[in-house]
Amino acid sequence: MTIHRQVAWPLAVAAAAAVMVAAVAPALAQSPAIAKAVLKDKSGKEVGEANLTQTKNGVLIRLSVKGIEPGEHAFHVHAVGKCEAPFTSAGGHFNPASHKHGLESAEGAHAGDMPNLHVPQNGDLKVEVFNAMITLAKGQPNSVFDADGSALVIHAKADDNKTDPAGDAGDRIACGVVTE
Ligand code: ZN
Repeated sequence: MTIHRQVAWPLAVAAAAAVMVAAVAPALAQSPAIAKAVLKDKSGKEVGEANLTQTKNGVLIRLSVKGIEPGEHAFHVHAVGKCEAPFTSAGGHFNPASHKHGLESAEGAHAGDMPNLHVPQNGDLKVEVFNAMITLAKGQPNSVFDADGSALVIHAKADDNKTDPAGDAGDRIACGVVTE
């Protein structure tokens, strides 16, 4: 009898652990480790692509653009995953914490605020941008995969990093919905 009990308990524990793993696994699978955005200009022409990777510290964005006007351009995560020219459909900057705009803001920044892009004379740029204020993990308040999604937007002018709410960055020249 004693031997039977010693065998039975570990089996029961193992069975319970297996049930827990089965219950947790689908929830983890729903949060993507990578995401993507194809950026198009107002005429619908593809002008860039971004690959987003979730890291332990934030989201690494590998961006490549083609045929963008040379110079400095603001680059933001916008609050709505909808890119209909002239891209006001993408809403304001992604700002789940209700902060003021700008990487130099004294009251935090928008989660969607990022450094300017510096596009060279040939109009093509490959750059890596790191954003520690956003996540791809669903269910988090700062997730780019919230109810209405998110979009990456490039502006006509540079972001001055302080003017609320949009950094005086001018028109939106390219937009891409963030997708899994
Ligand atoms: Zn902002």
